[in-house]
Amino acid sequence: MLRISRFAPSPTGRLHLGHAFSAVRAHDLAREAGGRFLLRIEDIDGTRSREAFVGGIEEDLRWLGLAWDGPVVCQSRRMTLYGAAFERLKALGLVYPCFCTRAEITASASAPHGDAGPIYPGTCRALTAAERERRAGEPHCWRLDMTAAHARTGALRWHDATVGWVDADPLPQGDVVLARKETPTSYHLAVTIDDAAQGVTDVVRGVDLFAATHVHRLLQALLGLPTPRYHHHQLLLGADGQRLAKRNGARSLADLRAHGSDPDILLASLRAGQVPIGADAGDA
Ligand code: GLU
Repeated sequence: MLRISRFAPSPTGRLHLGHAFSAVRAHDLAREAGGRFLLRIEDIDGTRSREAFVGGIEEDLRWLGLAWDGPVVCQSRRMTLYGAAFERLKALGLVYPCFCTRAEITASASAPHGDAGPIYPGTCRALTAAERERRAGEPHCWRLDMTAAHARTGALRWHDATVGWVDADPLPQGDVVLARKETPTSYHLAVTIDDAAQGVTDVVRGVDLFAATHVHRLLQALLGLPTPRYHHHQLLLGADGQRLAKRNGARSLADLRAHGSDPDILLASLRAGQVPIGADAGDA
């Protein structure tokens, strides 16, 4: 079987070492199996995505020597595809409009927090059809009725290279957002559709997205899509034991290159799961 993996960054900044670590793992998994490595730009958030960062991502991957196959796919150009899938879920009666503001959700005393912020307490699920109709002109997003969706699919599981078979348990993620007013999709929906549409057999990504996979597995079942194998890798940590991210000073690849870093040495360190000495923090 042809193995297909992908690297799917959001163009909201330059790549840092944490991204590079994930990209190398996805790249090597495909290449070692004689398969394909794809580059997908996850730019559905028009307010945070920048065209210039797309060029920067391509430049950084080239500098590292990580070549991808085929054209770069940009999610912002695939809205029709996502919209059609959303309509199917809507026709199944599994989505509802939500009029709550972010502040209202955060303020909700009972709102437990998940990896991606507060879990939606389900307030708008209880609105009557008449109320939904009356408020249709107000800003809103669309949420998946998780309990109803889960009841429809029954038990599901996926295979993870790090922990083996995992029983999908999407309920703790709450009624996740599937679409917004100007964007007929969300991260969960777009990623699920694209991994299937691009024939991705192996999803390689950080363990910080492990919880999201419960939701993706559910969406695959609802939309009749295949389930890839998952490889949730540990996150690369800096010398201080902190996760490498821009907010705690991880240096961008562009910065390392500008300071004369050798991409081959960098790549070898990342393959060994190590941060090159002095490369994890600095004046970036
Ligand atoms: N676009 C996501 C990110 O940059 C990754 C999506 C994925 O690998 O599924 O965090």
